Amino acid sequence: MVYNFNAGPSILPKEVFEEAAAAVLNYNDSGLSILEYGHRTPAFEGIMQEARDLMKELMGLDDNHQVLFLHGGASTQFMQVPMNLLDLKESAAYTDTGLWAAKAIKEAKLFGKPEIVCSSKDKNYSFLPKDFAVPNDSKYLHITTNNTIYGTQWQKIPVTSNSMVADMSSDILSRDLNFNAFDLIYAGAQKNIGAAGVTVVVVNKNILGKVKRNIPTMMDYRNHIAEGSMLNTPPVFAVYTCMLTLRWLKKQGGVKAIEKINNEKAALLYAEVDRNSLFKGTVAAEDRSKMNVCFVMEDGQKEAGFLQYATDNKIIGIKGHRSVGGFRASLYNAMPLSSVAYLVELMKAFENN
Ligand SMILES: *Cc1c(COP(=O)(O)O)cnc(C)c1O
Repeated sequence: MVYNFNAGPSILPKEVFEEAAAAVLNYNDSGLSILEYGHRTPAFEGIMQEARDLMKELMGLDDNHQVLFLHGGASTQFMQVPMNLLDLKESAAYTDTGLWAAKAIKEAKLFGKPEIVCSSKDKNYSFLPKDFAVPNDSKYLHITTNNTIYGTQWQKIPVTSNSMVADMSSDILSRDLNFNAFDLIYAGAQKNIGAAGVTVVVVNKNILGKVKRNIPTMMDYRNHIAEGSMLNTPPVFAVYTCMLTLRWLKKQGGVKAIEKINNEKAALLYAEVDRNSLFKGTVAAEDRSKMNVCFVMEDGQKEAGFLQYATDNKIIGIKGHRSVGGFRASLYNAMPLSSVAYLVELMKAFENN
């Protein structure tokens, strides 16, 4: 057994791996692999429908909010969002809280006028700036709810009367939020929902169709809504894996129940980071992410040694992103509390030796 703390693609529940693996060999006793299964079959339409319904149920979405399963990753949403929501002369407010946020800003410039309303770039994105105003004429406020690379997370979502758009790639379904307060949410599936290859978009249908530009067919959310995410061949296996993970999450008791465990996991690891004389956290305490815990060593010279020790003890994926250094332990929904406790024990043992 190994302990996978990768930031994404990342750990999924064991039973999801088992069911997905079985379906690759023989989907539901059909004699066909899920990989050769037609997307226009009633069985796959059922999978897509169930995945959509589970998203709606787990997020508590109202009927204005449509759930889409698209290609292209969260990175495609950086452009698809402004293409659908922003005219060239219109402005939208963006929070510059990390590398992913900065990429979203770069793409928005191609379609409108993104205005950076706050930034923590000069402090290497180690905190979330909260003292900012959103101009009235901003078509929307864009936030990254969890900054995967730096390990910051909005513990209180900023309040605005403007439309809200969020990149939730690394914390979607990890905690209870009022998801209906957002007009658009997007997330690459590979961190908390399933396999790489599919992106979940939740969009309030009432905000669409307001821009003047011609939108290419595949880029227009309205076409994907009309076709039930089957405008072209969807990523069948990735959607199937999402459905299995969503079923698993529902069985755990849903978002509120998983949030409780996620809080325990994060509290356990941060307590050790703070207690252990060798380690320290890298971000403002109030902004600490419950999904990606970033920490360094007081003595940077010891980091290679701890990484080796962790690797020797079957820990995978805790090397920090190159822009932060040190370590990052990703504690997504599927990560059991016992694995976090195991990492904490290793940190203690390393201190004692
Ligand atoms: C991983 C990540 C992305 C990029 O996702 P892709 O699906 O690889 O395009 C964007 N935003 C955040 C917050 C992420 O964590």
